[in-house]
Amino acid sequence: MTPQQIIFEGKQDKSFLDILAALPEGKHLRSCLQCGTCGGTCPVSPMLPHSPRRIFAMVRAGMKREVLESLTPWVCASCYECTVKCPAQIAITEIMYALKRIAGREGITPPDSDAVRFARLFTKVVSTYGRAHELQVLMKYMMFHHPVRLARQTGVGMRMMFKGRMPLFPHRIEGIDKFRAMVEKAQALEGGEGVEGMVRPTEEVAQ
Ligand code: SF4
Ligand code: SF4
Repeated sequence: MTPQQIIFEGKQDKSFLDILAALPEGKHLRSCLQCGTCGGTCPVSPMLPHSPRRIFAMVRAGMKREVLESLTPWVCASCYECTVKCPAQIAITEIMYALKRIAGREGITPPDSDAVRFARLFTKVVSTYGRAHELQVLMKYMMFHHPVRLARQTGVGMRMMFKGRMPLFPHRIEGIDKFRAMVEKAQALEGGEGVEGMVRPTEEVAQ
């Protein structure tokens, strides 16, 4: 949101605040003081297009589409620093997850976003194996989206593998069917596809 942007009242969605505040994680959302502690304490703040403080101001202003199109929830590293420091005890990190779920359900994602592409690939790998496999996520992501960077970072990857920090082959967890059933159930309870629903649990990563 820039100061030049004007949202006419007819385009505001005032119910968005009610929807978020009704979620368990949105319990204290209305108490936001706009103090800016969240943005000030966030380690990825320079990469956030909107700080959590600004996101909550936009929610209050009924700027639903702008919030759901924001890259902020996708760039959030889920470190919980803002949640710990927030004087109003707002579950900021959890609200970031909620925003991604709502965005996924409504088919709204930030345009041309690396973060969204990475999230899709990550969920595919987790759906396939029941756990993350860093090498596969990174190789596929870099090969398809940043082949030049892949060549530059091969050395780092090799060193990590030799030091045992990154396993070469993925291991599927035992009871993968139960894991997938659990994810399906969670998605059904969410009432839609959600962020995880970008990839159905049965949709496997191409080997
Ligand atoms: S730290 Fe909490 S109260 Fe302060 S702006 Fe951020 S969300 Fe609002
Ligand atoms: S949880 Fe997300 S928004 Fe909050 S401080 Fe960490 S990276 Fe920033």
